[in-house]
Amino acid sequence: MFSQIRWKLVGWSVLVLALVLTLVGVAIYVTLANHLIDGVDESLELRGNEVAVDHHDLVEGRAFVDHGGYRGGMFFLLAAPDGRIIANPQAVYLARLPWSPGQLPTPIFRTITLNGEQVRLYETYYGRFGPSPQYLVVGQSIQPQIDVLGRLLFVLLAGGALGLVLSVFGAWFLAGRALIPIQKAFSQQQEFVADASHELRTPLTVLRATTDVLSRHRNEPLEANQELFDDLCQEIVRLERLATDLLTLARSDLGEFDLAVGDVDLMALAADVVRRMSPLATKQEVSLVVSAPDSPLVVEGDPDRLQQVLVILIDNALKHTSAGGRVTIAGKRHGADVLLQVIDTGEGIPPEHLPRVVDRFYRVDRARSRAHGGTGLGLAIANSLIQAHHGQLSLTSTLGLGTTVTIRLRLAERVPTLAGRLGDFASRVAHRPVR
Ligand code: ATP
Ligand code: MG
Repeated sequence: MFSQIRWKLVGWSVLVLALVLTLVGVAIYVTLANHLIDGVDESLELRGNEVAVDHHDLVEGRAFVDHGGYRGGMFFLLAAPDGRIIANPQAVYLARLPWSPGQLPTPIFRTITLNGEQVRLYETYYGRFGPSPQYLVVGQSIQPQIDVLGRLLFVLLAGGALGLVLSVFGAWFLAGRALIPIQKAFSQQQEFVADASHELRTPLTVLRATTDVLSRHRNEPLEANQELFDDLCQEIVRLERLATDLLTLARSDLGEFDLAVGDVDLMALAADVVRRMSPLATKQEVSLVVSAPDSPLVVEGDPDRLQQVLVILIDNALKHTSAGGRVTIAGKRHGADVLLQVIDTGEGIPPEHLPRVVDRFYRVDRARSRAHGGTGLGLAIANSLIQAHHGQLSLTSTLGLGTTVTIRLRLAERVPTLAGRLGDFASRVAHRPVR
């Protein structure tokens, strides 16, 4: 499929280039041809006017510089209105004009073939001598100009053809490079769909089997099959969570996170999450503490989404820290940023897995994570949410010693309000040392 797209891109770009080259080539050729012919026309007209001094000079050939016959320079003729040649002092091989100048009201330029050469003619009314009017014809071969144009045409065609051949290679290379990220995104998407289908299939299979067993015992009271019923409920909860997670990620891919952004005091938010997760920590005999700096750390963000991130990270830390361990939520300022860290003293992540744990559905120990009800989407969602806040999420871990997840967010820029300034002033006055 991608090779077909690549060839199509090559085809289109070469076609566009061919069109552009043709247009430019035609424009160059036509402009130069007009310029050359205009130059010849100008000199023909100029010489015609110079020569038309004396009728006798012209008829007798005295007016011409070149008396040795026509040798490819300019030649002069006098013609009758019916095209008959009256004077041909340079003996040009032309018995009569192939048209009747008597019908021409104004001077005119023509191109004719004379002795196999292209010749440009300037023809103008000369005067009435005797009974009939006469016409002056000044001519010049334009073979040198045609040769120049021929050479230009060759250069344009050869250059254009070479350019097109080179552009096929160039377009092939560029299309290949442009397709790399698309190919990568496509295969990631396919992998995601395959993983999602697999994750959906497992609880559905359990549901199917459980309902089969339950339907065989449909006459029994529910209490008799309480365990099966609990399994059923658990799988439904898992499915519901999976659907919500998938929806969150799909929204993030589409850039459709509608964040309700406001000023959020991160450490207050962390304390709130810790308070709600303390029972879980107590149950696992892990101490869960917050370490906050003196001044509040305020960021611009969606409090619900930031809370969701903290829940994901603390949940991971608790899952992977054994009894007696410790999970710390620490916050600090770092220049114009805030660093919020979830530090655990748990089992750690093997270094070869560390770069991939943020990937969707990636789990170090698939079976163990599933036993905890995990699908491997937690860190991927946390990462997407932090990115939607223009922040960064990173992990460091030492096997056997613990893991630290760091969130970097920008400090909220506080625009000083009048009330705020008055408050500051009041507190400065209140705390001024008494002399
Ligand atoms: P879910 O979060 O969807 O319930 P999960 O916890 O398995 O499932 P993630 O939160 O994305 O998925 O974590 C991915 C994997 O990274 C986990 O399966 C685990 O192996 C590893 N991991 C994450 N946090 C920690 C941690 N604090 N200590 C050790 N391993 C961790
Ligand atoms: Mg998790």
